[in-house]
Amino acid sequence: MKSIYYSIISGFLALFLTFNLGCFSLNTARQLGNTILEEISDVNIFTDEEELRLGKAFDEQHAREVKFYTDTVVTNYIKDLGQNLVRHSKRNDIRYTFKVVDTNDINAYAVPGGFIYVNLGLIRAVHTESELAFVLAHEIGHIVGQHTMKRLTQVYGVEILKQIILDEDSSKLSKLITDILAAGWLFKYSRDNERESDFYGVQNVYDIGISPEGSIRFFETLKQVHRREPSTLEKLISTHPVHSERISNVRNQIKGLPPKFGLQVDSSRFQQVKRRIR
Ligand SMILES: [Zn+2]
Repeated sequence: MKSIYYSIISGFLALFLTFNLGCFSLNTARQLGNTILEEISDVNIFTDEEELRLGKAFDEQHAREVKFYTDTVVTNYIKDLGQNLVRHSKRNDIRYTFKVVDTNDINAYAVPGGFIYVNLGLIRAVHTESELAFVLAHEIGHIVGQHTMKRLTQVYGVEILKQIILDEDSSKLSKLITDILAAGWLFKYSRDNERESDFYGVQNVYDIGISPEGSIRFFETLKQVHRREPSTLEKLISTHPVHSERISNVRNQIKGLPPKFGLQVDSSRFQQVKRRIR
């Protein structure tokens, strides 16, 4: 949280100094104003604790709606891979929780406070660990970018949202979550959100020594499934839109990464998990 404030304040300071040292015209003043407005609309002013409170309330509600998969060979694998990515992510000072959902729909999603859910259907659909690692890293990217918190702030306003989250009577929070879920937009990310999460995801897998090419393979897997069984992809596509732009973006990012020896494409542990859930 602090780092966001620092980067914004230092950003403003840098802008201020640049404009003061240079020629300060009306036009540049207007641009500066616009930049500050854009920065403010992107600020999330909730503490990690507040974000976690919201995430926990969602998780409790979600547990009543879906069936979590409990085979520890599978859940421990997802947890280990996820936590390894988290350690090398850009937001590793909060606790993350990874859960596997027992459904054949192909999807993965994240909610504020570090809760990440992966459907069995997604683990069944991907071919290698590097594909799965990219998906997890992409979801971590939504937590890093605090995309849902920012969206909630825009919709409800800071004060109302804070009051609901901090209210001792948790029924207001439950109602908020029911309303958000009914509205169906909790996981609907913008193109910018998706671009940012893909960017974090590619870097994150590369940093832990997994091949970032898994991202491209994953998009290809989605195309194949879409031709074969489009209904299993409905949720994923409605929440994380797959534009051709996303594929070319990750391709370009990968091209720019320094060559690294021994990047892993797959693992025997992943294949063991695949056999178990076949
Ligand atoms: Zn996404």
